[in-house]
Amino acid sequence: MREDSIESIFRQLHDLAEPSGQEARTSVLLAAYLRDFGYSVRDHVGGYGLVATLPGKAEHPCIAFQADMDALVYTIDGNTRAVHACGHDANCAMVLDAARTMARRSWPGTIKIIFQPAEEIFSGALAMLRDHAADGIDVLVGLHLRPVQEARLFQCTPSLLHSASRMLDVHIHGVAAHSARPHLGCNVIDAGAAAVNAINAVHLDPTHSFSAKVTRFHAGGASPNIIPAEAELTVDLRADLEEDMQSLFSSVERAISCSTAANGARVDISTRSQAPAANNDPKLQSLAEQAICDVLGPENLLPPIHTTGGDDFHFFSRTVPGLRSVYLGLGADVKPGLHNPDMIFDHAALPRGSALLVHMAELIIQA
Ligand SMILES: [Zn+2]
Ligand SMILES: [Zn+2]
Repeated sequence: MREDSIESIFRQLHDLAEPSGQEARTSVLLAAYLRDFGYSVRDHVGGYGLVATLPGKAEHPCIAFQADMDALVYTIDGNTRAVHACGHDANCAMVLDAARTMARRSWPGTIKIIFQPAEEIFSGALAMLRDHAADGIDVLVGLHLRPVQEARLFQCTPSLLHSASRMLDVHIHGVAAHSARPHLGCNVIDAGAAAVNAINAVHLDPTHSFSAKVTRFHAGGASPNIIPAEAELTVDLRADLEEDMQSLFSSVERAISCSTAANGARVDISTRSQAPAANNDPKLQSLAEQAICDVLGPENLLPPIHTTGGDDFHFFSRTVPGLRSVYLGLGADVKPGLHNPDMIFDHAALPRGSALLVHMAELIIQA
C-alpha cells in the first residue's frame, strides 16, 4: 500500500487543478491510489466521478465519504487557469487518507468513497446519481474546509447548513427599430430594467434568510442607434429553507413575466443550475459532535453553521430514499477566503480531518 503522506497527496492534487467537468487527470490519480489501497473502483461515473468500494458484511451500515474534485477558473496575468480556490484538493486528500486508514483495518461493514466532479456548476451530484453512484449507501459523510471567517484552525461544525440556490437564465425578446422611432420597436432594455426592479421588490417573510438579485444583463450591440430586440439576464436566488426557495422562485418568475409583458416583450425563463438546501440528519449530527469532541477537543466544537453558499451534495439525501447524510465544516485558517485565487490554509488541518472521518465511521457503526 502506497505510503505517500497526506501532504504529498494534497500537493499532487493541488498541482493538477482541473475545471468543473474536466477532472480527467485528478480522477485517474485518485483511482490509482484507491486501487492500490485495495478498493474496487468504478470510474467515469457521471462524468469523471469515482465510486470506490471496500466490501463488508451486509448487517452493518454501508458508510460513504464524499469529496468534490473540481477547481475554479481565473484569469491571472492575462492567462486563464484553474486554481483549487475552494479547497477541494484538501477535501480529496483528507477523504483519500481516511480511505487508506479504513483499508488497513479489518472493518466489518462496507466502505465507499465518492469523488464527485463538477460541484461548482451544480451538475456533478445529479450526474453521479443518474449513474447509480449512491446505490446501497446508508450513510454519506461530507467534509469541507471553511473560511477563517466561519472557523479557525481545528474548529469544526458538525452541520454545515447550505442554502438552497437556483440560477435562472432569462431571455427577453422585443422588436428592433431605429432609435429615432422607438414607438415602432419594443426596447428590451426597458423590459429588462422593469424586470430587475420587479425582482428587487419580491419579499418573503423577512425573518427568513433569502436573496434574489440580477447578476448579468446583456443587451444592445455594436450599433448604438438601434432599439435592441434581445436581452439576456441571469438571476441568482438563495434561500435557507427549501420551502422558501419554492415560493421565491414562483414570485420571481411572476415578477419577470408580468413586468416584461407590461413592456410588450416576450420572455423565456430557464434554470441554469440549482442545489437544494442542506438536509443533515439530526442523529448523524450528534455523532459528528461526538467525533469533533474526541478528535479535535470540545473547545473546537462549533454550532451548526448557516452558509449562504450552496452545495449539490444535498441531492444525495434528497433523492435517494433511506440515505442519510451529514456535512461537516472544518476550520483551517483559510485566508483570505474560499473562491479567492490566493487562498491559503494551515495544512495541519489535513491529518485531523482524515482522523475525524475515520472516527465518524467508528461512531456510526457503534450507534
Ligand atoms: Zn466552491
Ligand atoms: Zn467547495
